[in-house]
Amino acid sequence: MDVLPNFSVTHAASIDDIVRARAAAPDSRLIAGGTDLMVNIRRGIVAPSVLIDVSQVAELRTIRADADAIELGAAVTLAEVAAHPGVQQHFASVAEAAGSIAGPTHRNMGTVGGNLCLDTRCIFYNQSEWWRGAINHCLKTTGAICHVAPKSRGVCFATFSGDLAPALLVHGAEVEVGGPAGRRIFPLERLYIGHARQDRPFSETLGDGKSYLGLRPREFVIAVRAGRTPGLISGYDKIRIRRSIEYPVAGVAVALRRDGPAFADLRIAFTGTNPRPVLLAGTETLRGRSFDEESRDRLEALVRDQVMSMKTTFTPGHYRRRVASVLARRSVARLFERGESD
Ligand SMILES: Cc1cc2nc3c(=O)[nH]c(=O)nc-3n(C[C@H](O)[C@H](O)[C@H](O)COP(=O)(O)OP(=O)(O)OC[C@H]3O[C@@H](n4cnc5c(N)ncnc54)[C@H](O)[C@@H]3O)c2cc1C
Ligand code: SF4
Repeated sequence: MDVLPNFSVTHAASIDDIVRARAAAPDSRLIAGGTDLMVNIRRGIVAPSVLIDVSQVAELRTIRADADAIELGAAVTLAEVAAHPGVQQHFASVAEAAGSIAGPTHRNMGTVGGNLCLDTRCIFYNQSEWWRGAINHCLKTTGAICHVAPKSRGVCFATFSGDLAPALLVHGAEVEVGGPAGRRIFPLERLYIGHARQDRPFSETLGDGKSYLGLRPREFVIAVRAGRTPGLISGYDKIRIRRSIEYPVAGVAVALRRDGPAFADLRIAFTGTNPRPVLLAGTETLRGRSFDEESRDRLEALVRDQVMSMKTTFTPGHYRRRVASVLARRSVARLFERGESD
């Protein structure tokens, strides 16, 4: 589809407005900055009859960050996050991730909520309608098979590429969501259910690249919050094809605390590699160790086990996995060194 289909736009002024508008139009979609959704509408990937603009809901515009905690409302823009002195000083991974997303104009429009709920991506999916039609579409839209893994038995491996999620995950963030049944708060990690599993049935907590968010019907993100762990320093880095404007081939957030020559805490999270942002499991085994050769080998083994190697983006899967490993090692080394002088 090259022209936009017909749709109407409702401007919400409150959380209740959003709940009501969603109930009135079941196929509606929230729109915040529109920097991802409008592209997908133009490509005929989705065609909602109603867009609910949430960018002016006052409660969603909260931004706070200090030495104790961070709170980002869903409609706060990425430019606001990147420029906030409290975020820069106390939650560096979040400021650095926000500042690395797309280009300046996207960051002025793009929001925290839109980034956390960003659609998953795939080389066979993020294409024009005629391109996808020429290959009979794929599982994530209306097709019968996955072109990445034709024997995947109904599973989609599309990749989550939002930069903010890993940066928040390493700070132990929680997300508040709202919907027809009220509000609930849960660990941000549980918002992401894209496990690309092939052996267990889909559920509210287990999905894939097509069903990648743990939101119940008509739920939406209100805010994300994290407390600050004293002594924890963090950072974010990513590799992309074009350094100016591009989704990550792989992005990595690291947060660590040193106790003399050893790790007291180490947390690493990736994006751009799996159908969900991956908070690396097993990094606690490095506590009490310095960042020596054996620690580097252990880290590499963890990445190898947990980072997916599928060709869903423009680079081969194994390349992405290697890039993720190099990025992680580089970022940990940089912060470990800095941790000594802090
Ligand atoms: C050229 C280009 C480069 C890009 N590069 C990057 C990049 O490097 N890294 C990156 O992370 N992204 C990138 N993006 C994607 C996008 O710009 C950002 O992810 C942005 O943060 C999306 O936010 P938005 O407010 O514009 O989302 P929208 O487009 O408004 O919405 C995105 C999705 O989130 C849903 N949504 C919005 N708000 C909420 C909410 N509160 N609760 C539940 N669902 C909600 C929408 O319904 C939609 O499905 C790029 C986009 C383009 C066009
Ligand atoms: S990984 Fe998902 S989006 Fe990509 S071809 Fe397979 S089903 Fe389609």
